[in-house]
Amino acid sequence: MDKCEKQLVALVKDTYIRQGVESIQSRGNLLKALLSDRHLPLHGYEDSTIEYFMQQFSMMDSNNFLGNVGFGEREGRVFSSLVARRHYYLSHGIGRSGDIAEQQPKAAGSSVIYKLTNCLALHAMHISGFTGMEKALVVPMATGMSVTLSLLALRQGRPLAKYVLWPRIDQKSCLKAILTCGLTPVIIENVINGDEIVTNVESVQHAVKEYGADNILCILTTTSCFAPRRPDKVDAVASICKEHEIPHVINNAYGLQCPLIAKLVNRAITVGRVDYIVQSLDKNFLMPVGGAIIASPTAALIKQISKVYPGRASSTPIVDLFITLLSMGETSWRALQAERLRLLPIFIDGLNQVAMEFGERVLISPCNSISVGITLSQSLLKNNTAENSQKAAQYIGSMLFKRSVSGSRVIVPTASSKIGSHEFPGWGSNVSGYHSVYMTAACAIGLKEHEIHTFFIKLRKIFSAVRKSYVLPGDVETILVDSQHDAGEDDEKVSVISDIWVDMYNRKAKNL
Ligand SMILES: *Cc1c(COP(=O)(O)O)cnc(C)c1O
Repeated sequence: MDKCEKQLVALVKDTYIRQGVESIQSRGNLLKALLSDRHLPLHGYEDSTIEYFMQQFSMMDSNNFLGNVGFGEREGRVFSSLVARRHYYLSHGIGRSGDIAEQQPKAAGSSVIYKLTNCLALHAMHISGFTGMEKALVVPMATGMSVTLSLLALRQGRPLAKYVLWPRIDQKSCLKAILTCGLTPVIIENVINGDEIVTNVESVQHAVKEYGADNILCILTTTSCFAPRRPDKVDAVASICKEHEIPHVINNAYGLQCPLIAKLVNRAITVGRVDYIVQSLDKNFLMPVGGAIIASPTAALIKQISKVYPGRASSTPIVDLFITLLSMGETSWRALQAERLRLLPIFIDGLNQVAMEFGERVLISPCNSISVGITLSQSLLKNNTAENSQKAAQYIGSMLFKRSVSGSRVIVPTASSKIGSHEFPGWGSNVSGYHSVYMTAACAIGLKEHEIHTFFIKLRKIFSAVRKSYVLPGDVETILVDSQHDAGEDDEKVSVISDIWVDMYNRKAKNL
């Protein structure tokens, strides 16, 4: 339109036209700024601006050239107009056969979007406090497969090393990420410290000696996990990795939302060795499942990742992140994280209050600022047989599900599970021999305050129902009398516990 000003003025009054043309130019200026800054805009862009960008980029791809005729087998042809529109008419994907980060001759627009998105992802990580990252690559695979890709990239340099030392985390995809590569996990059992489940650093050290540094492909640690497991001591592990020249991959699935994890990871980079750090797109950025960011403090290692990827790849998760980050801007990205931290004490306090009303308590694991656990054993299931308390716990799980509370998990640490050829006693609790049956719930990014209150209402109803169904007749009265009697004291305990928690959290954050 700015090229047509003369002709436009012949049709409509020039002052009007100038204003209209300026409006188009101002969007062009935003695009120019994005191309030169390669950062999240301070404030998110409107949908219309983003759609304008998408249109410009997609017109740079050969499938949208006017009069283009394609005689290859990969010409970006799309049958359904719904599909074409869903992808903003982009259809070439990303990468070339030998490298996912390679520019595509047929798709300049898609290639630009990919480069920009990688820059935006890195900036988003820096904003969340992960300042030690030098480069990031957005890949169209979820977290587990992205961990697999990282291991395969490391394997190029250590073809004979077949062990992966893995501080236990009870999430099947983490283990499968190792097994799928044909590698052998060496499971490092965690230790229980009070309520917390903690990385056994001595065991890691011992395993390095036992298996031999040269035979170990890498140590795979995990930061974001269910309470009361705490983020792995990635700094201590990084030091071991540096000393023995063993690569270190950090599974940071939903850890971008936690400043404590950011500090831990930064410290790991400073004091030791970190090769790759993998984070989920859907868990951190409020978008559909399908992608992950693989970042590294060493730019050359990212090149390794893009080179092992066989073939081209879908650009959908990349475009989704591109749009999401432009739409969020730095301000909303920061605000979402700040809001989560504001809700955290409300969440812990409230959960503890509900727990105390039923004679239960919050598990103290202040290093985990995302997931919180509460016991389901001491009083709620009092005077019951082991079998009954297991049934009651399962009943709570099914009630949560029926009442549309998703994501909250009930853990009966006596259950055991076999995955591949590996036996996991206490499966779900990340450790063998945990002292309580408990449930977990997460205060994750994007959670709304009203949802927290609805959750508490549902939880109270469920706990009351459980008490009626599973406590032996004589006990109901005693417990009710007890809880009434303790009401005043409970209030005091509630505030004390949350104070201890917040205090511990702040102290740990400061010490890092
Ligand atoms: C979610 C999650 C995974 C698996 O992620 P996908 O995106 O489903 O592949 C692996 N590890 C941890 C710690 C997770 O939270």
